[in-house]
Amino acid sequence: MHELAVTQEILSIVLAEAESNGAKRIKKVRVRVGEMTAVVGDCVRFYFDIISRGTIAEGAEVEIENIPIEARCSACGRVYRASELDFLCSFCGGIGSLISGRELLVEGIEIDQSGEGSGNKDS
Ligand SMILES: [Zn+2]
Repeated sequence: MHELAVTQEILSIVLAEAESNGAKRIKKVRVRVGEMTAVVGDCVRFYFDIISRGTIAEGAEVEIENIPIEARCSACGRVYRASELDFLCSFCGGIGSLISGRELLVEGIEIDQSGEGSGNKDS
């Protein structure tokens, strides 16, 4: 259960990002979470709701994109789904190297710069 620490990190990143963009409010946060990090998206959302209270990120929607563990085989060059415990190539049994699954990053945020409340002007 390291989601709380992870969520605090995410919050501080998005607040800094929002501040440097002059945001009045953060509407949405997009996070990429690799399967290997074992971070549970629902927990991140839960904690985010709590710790973002009183900040401009309060009420923001947290969108979690789960990234599967993938490896590229050094023998046959193919890319395959791997698991944390099994890195061997599912085609030839060769040894693969991890190419994704360890991600834990804020991909982007949607902000409101107007501070004029909710102007429903988009498309
Ligand atoms: Zn292979």
